[in-house]
Amino acid sequence: MSDPITKLETSSANWVRNHMYELSGIPEPGREWTSSETGIDDRIVTSLLKRGLVERVAGKRDDSDRRYYRTQPKLYDAVQTFRETSTRTDRLLPCDDRECPGSGFRNLGDGRLECSHCGQVHDKGAIDR
Ligand SMILES: [Zn+2]
Repeated sequence: MSDPITKLETSSANWVRNHMYELSGIPEPGREWTSSETGIDDRIVTSLLKRGLVERVAGKRDDSDRRYYRTQPKLYDAVQTFRETSTRTDRLLPCDDRECPGSGFRNLGDGRLECSHCGQVHDKGAIDR
């Protein structure tokens, strides 16, 4: 199954949507980058690799022995698409931090949702539309 608004599989699209905050600085396709240069966590890079959303640049490492990666166009497109749709539509969560994209959450149970970006906990009953 694929996501209706991106070219990603649904599971990858959901993952990207939940990590928009971390992925907002993803370099455009064609550029070679390291995790330290982009500020993207190694944990995130590992997930991207597993999902085939970035590729390793064979044999190239920086002075600190970090690998270089290239962004897959479908990931870059998805990040741009999610960014556009999240500014156009209401946020999923009404976070107090106005800069928070409020586009992903972790279910804490008992009807409580924790924003995966700013960490604010919301009562599910208050945000259901
Ligand atoms: Zn938030």
